[in-house]
Amino acid sequence: MYTLVYTINNDDNAEIVYINLTNACTNACIFCLRTQKDDVCGREMWHDDNYELEDIIEQFNKYEKTAKEVVFCGYGEPFLRKEMMKSFCKYLRKNFPYIRIRVNTNGHANAIYRTNVALEFKGLIDSVSVSLNASDEDQYDEICKPKIKNAYDAMLDFAKSCKAIGIDVSMSVVTGFDKIHNIDVKKCEDIATSIGANFRNREFITNGY
Ligand code: SF4
Repeated sequence: MYTLVYTINNDDNAEIVYINLTNACTNACIFCLRTQKDDVCGREMWHDDNYELEDIIEQFNKYEKTAKEVVFCGYGEPFLRKEMMKSFCKYLRKNFPYIRIRVNTNGHANAIYRTNVALEFKGLIDSVSVSLNASDEDQYDEICKPKIKNAYDAMLDFAKSCKAIGIDVSMSVVTGFDKIHNIDVKKCEDIATSIGANFRNREFITNGY
C-alpha cells in the first residue's frame, strides 16, 4: 500500500501526522516539491487515489497514541478528495476529539465545487493554511500556474469563507526559490492581515519541507 499517512523523519512517535490524500492539484507551482523528488523522508508519495477510508485508518493506527495534530498535506490538493477528507475528519472527531485538524490548501475549493466548501467543514477542521504565494493575480499566475480561471481571487475568497465560520486561517508565501520572482512580502502580509489571517513567510529549502 502506498503512502497515505506519514510523519517527518518517519518518526513513529510524532505529534504531527500528515495525510497524503491525492496527487491531483489545480496548481503547478514552480517551487512544488513534487517537481524535485518523489518521496518525503524516503516515503514514496505518488499514488493513483485508489484507496478506501479504512486504508487511511489502518496507516494512521500506529500514530494514534502520540498524534496531537493531523495535517492534510502531501503531494496534491487535499480538497480534491473532500468527501474522503470529510470522512476521515469525522473518524478523528469521534475517536480522538482532542486532535487538532489542519488543511494545507491552495484555496481553490470553492471555485472548483462552485459552492462554499468551507461551510461543509465547519466543526471538522480547526485551521487552514492557504498558499497565498503572490501579492497580485499576474504574479500568482506566473508562480502557481493555476489550471482554473480567476484562481487568485478564488483563493482569497476561500480564505475569507474559512475565517467567516471561525476556522483559523494562515496564509503563506514561499520566498527564495529563484531570483526572478521578487515577491512583495509586505504587501502579501497586508493582504493576509486584511482577511484576519496569520501570515507566514516560508523560506524555500531545496528538497526540504
Ligand atoms: S498547490 Fe501545493 S501541491 Fe499544488 S502544485 Fe502548488 S505546491 Fe504543489
